[in-house]
Amino acid sequence: MQGAACPTCAGPLVWNQAYNQWYCNNCRIYIPPGPQPRSEIDRFVDEIDSLFDSKPPPVYYCQRCNAPLSWVAQYGRWYCNNCRNYV
Ligand SMILES: [Zn+2]
Ligand SMILES: [Zn+2]
Repeated sequence: MQGAACPTCAGPLVWNQAYNQWYCNNCRIYIPPGPQPRSEIDRFVDEIDSLFDSKPPPVYYCQRCNAPLSWVAQYGRWYCNNCRNYV
């Protein structure tokens, strides 16, 4: 842990082992450690990842003939080549 800067005065912070927090000699305040802004970004990235995960749908099978269905993006529906039907 190094290179932390005070959010108030942008001065260098000193790591206080006893309190497990950063200390600013200028402001004389303790600043809790932790990547708070980063965790928000992580959550955002996770959300985007899950969006992309759901984008290409998994393979489905026809309930009538059990053949693998093909995704027709144009209609946003599954198509069975065997039954020649949209599911
Ligand atoms: Zn400060
Ligand atoms: Zn079918």
